[in-house]
Amino acid sequence: MAYVNDLPCVSAGPDIGDPTWKRPALWRAANAALDYLIDRHADSLGPVRSVAQELRDGLLCLFPTLDSLCERTCPECQTPCCRVADARFDLRDLIFIHLVGIAVPPGQPRSDGNSVCRYLGPHGCLLPRLSRPWICTWYLCPQQKRLFVQSDPYRFAQFKASIGRIKLCRKQLEDDFIYVVGA
Ligand code: SF4
Ligand code: SF4
Repeated sequence: MAYVNDLPCVSAGPDIGDPTWKRPALWRAANAALDYLIDRHADSLGPVRSVAQELRDGLLCLFPTLDSLCERTCPECQTPCCRVADARFDLRDLIFIHLVGIAVPPGQPRSDGNSVCRYLGPHGCLLPRLSRPWICTWYLCPQQKRLFVQSDPYRFAQFKASIGRIKLCRKQLEDDFIYVVGA
């Protein structure tokens, strides 16, 4: 890998030729760069790791609700959203995955010439919920949203508030990470 000013030379963001690392080589390079930066700044990243843990806790609180909605709607669905979705990992997803130490997925959902998400298995997503792109967590399809609102409007409002807090936490994670590794 090429290095510039002691940093791996990679695209670390949207790139006209390869938006968010769809090409396998750029995916590997982006993840190698994060490994490198985390290793290099290990002594300073404690507070950022705490934000990542806070994010992890927030996400874990959402999953029982999402599992329950999915059990009630997805098995009979005739038009599964994952067949048409163009979900992608963004920088916040990758920083989170690296800092909490979960396995890095092998690539973007539709890279390597896949016309549908590579993680879609016969019974749904093959990735653990924590490892999925954020959009795959917060998105509720119209059917799920209707069911949720009708069955428990109060919990739906709480759910939306949690999504808002997690969004802020993800932004803080990215901002703090960039501040530390850029210092
Ligand atoms: S989330 Fe909605 S659209 Fe997607 S598979 Fe489940 S029921 Fe179907
Ligand atoms: S990563 Fe999983 S949840 Fe997201 S689009 Fe692919 S199969 Fe669906």
